[in-house]
Amino acid sequence: MPTDIRPTTGQEALELLKEGNARYVDSLTSTDEYMQRRPELVKDQNPLAIILGCSDARVPVEIVFDQGLGDLFVIRVAGNVVAPSQIGSIEFAAEAFGTQLVVVLGHSKCGAVTACVETLINPDQNYSPNLQSIVDRIRPSVYNLHELATANGQDVDADELVDRSIRANVRMSVSQLRHGSRALEDLTNSGQLLVVGAEYDLETGKVRFLDS
Ligand SMILES: [Zn+2]
Repeated sequence: MPTDIRPTTGQEALELLKEGNARYVDSLTSTDEYMQRRPELVKDQNPLAIILGCSDARVPVEIVFDQGLGDLFVIRVAGNVVAPSQIGSIEFAAEAFGTQLVVVLGHSKCGAVTACVETLINPDQNYSPNLQSIVDRIRPSVYNLHELATANGQDVDADELVDRSIRANVRMSVSQLRHGSRALEDLTNSGQLLVVGAEYDLETGKVRFLDS
């Protein structure tokens, strides 16, 4: 079950999330106690981590990390991309609550990354300008991998490209957050903010944290 303990470092927060995901994978989660916290959270919040996740319905972050009300400050957007509003949200949480951990959480079979791969393989693919703006933010990660594969004369397998692009896209978002603003860069450089990437596996339920 989730804990009321609040971490004093980003690394401690990371351990709590790893423990929560292990409970979720082992089906040991319980949501019964979450609602008891509602009264104490009216005045204030003290989230242990900030999560930038994908909007995908199969990756609800509180559930996959077995966390409750008030535990996670969550931003979800298709493809877990970084745009100014995401940076602003993270600045807000890091500064207002002193939260010291940011996790960029991608996931297997991500539709937004798949859409981006399809635009490279089939340039005639058309999306609305709004969806295209998300695809464009993912594009550099996919493009680099696609170019590398074709330059090496390899056949480009779309599923393999999606799979590798998901992690490349997470790493790009991590880098963009670490350097996304003066405020986030200062917090990161002074060791007050840990920004890490992770990938959720739809089949196993496991969150794998990526080396940066
Ligand atoms: Zn997704």
